[in-house]
Amino acid sequence: MADKTVLVSGGSGYIAGFLIRQLVLQGWTVHTTVRDLAREPAVRQLLAVDNSRLRFFAADLTADAGWDQAMAGCSRVAHVASPLPAGVPQSADDLVVPARDGALRALRAAKAAGVKRFVMTSSVAAIAYGRGRGVHHFTEADWTQLDQPGLTPYIQSKTIAERAARDWMATEGAGMEYCSINPSVVLGPVWSRDYSASVVIIKKLLDGSLGACPDIGFGVVDVRDVADLHVRALMSPASMAGQRFIANDRFMKLRDIADVLRAGLGPQASKVTTRNVPDWLVRLAARFNPLARAVVGELGSVRHQSAIHAQSVLGWTARPAEQSIVDTARSLIDLGIVKV
Ligand code: NAP
Repeated sequence: MADKTVLVSGGSGYIAGFLIRQLVLQGWTVHTTVRDLAREPAVRQLLAVDNSRLRFFAADLTADAGWDQAMAGCSRVAHVASPLPAGVPQSADDLVVPARDGALRALRAAKAAGVKRFVMTSSVAAIAYGRGRGVHHFTEADWTQLDQPGLTPYIQSKTIAERAARDWMATEGAGMEYCSINPSVVLGPVWSRDYSASVVIIKKLLDGSLGACPDIGFGVVDVRDVADLHVRALMSPASMAGQRFIANDRFMKLRDIADVLRAGLGPQASKVTTRNVPDWLVRLAARFNPLARAVVGELGSVRHQSAIHAQSVLGWTARPAEQSIVDTARSLIDLGIVKV
């Protein structure tokens, strides 16, 4: 793979931004897609990299236009774009259709352009759900069980999209390597007011709008490390065909994250709650509140997601979740997104 041009889809996004920066700093030319080229100047300004190494293309996950042009001349692809809303949509198809069909569009265009390696940003949402309450340990061998009740549209979208991509590769993908990166909840410094939905939970703790913590938690990983894992998967001299890499530091309960904010920020964390919500109250709220409904199946669950595979195959390491949490909060304060 002598060619040094890579496509990163969804250049306006949180993870894609860090990935594009790392790739350009390492001497790569990056093609990136946005839905609307009117966003190009603002995204360029935020990325603040050598502009001559960055080209923008208009492409939407829900339409064919633009993907062939974006892929032309690229030897590798990081397909990062997929809808990640802060709320719960009316219909699962609002997320499933763009996630699945967008991945297939990107795969088809990549194959047609002679791309050698396709790295797809999936999620632990495709690995670790539908197992019910309790303490669970997950590896890349696991898949979310789609036939179980209570899966959010986002979880469905990531599982269906990764399955569809792997199925497509099995029948149509000869000559191209495919692997997925499966991050847990991505935190770390935010660099724009248009931040990812994963950061909202830290904002809500910090500004006091989350008045008490339900008994839920999630794996935490840093956006800088997720970008680094993509770079390693894109560039590794080893075959990445069929590989799957969990990106995670460790599982934390929401109340532990609140403790980290208080310990790390001192007086700036004065609005971070010290209270817990009992499970019965979350269940009651779930009758009329879609966000409470989305977490009710999570109550009491612990999901350990092992990143040993990424460490041993790609030499990847993750910084401590505590640092990612505090860095997220500091950036939200510095950008004026949260007033403390
Ligand atoms: P983000 O900042 O919201 O980025 C999502 C990107 O997808 C944006 O560039 C968005 O473009 C693009 N997108 C959404 N719908 C699109 C459509 N119909 N057509 C074209 N582009 C579309 O979120 P992120 O955290 O960086 O997430 C990036 C990827 O990582 C996603 O695949 C997500 O599922 C995955 N992931 C994220 C986390 C996390 O905790 N953040 C964890 C695991 C996996 P616009 O700016 O135009 O909306």
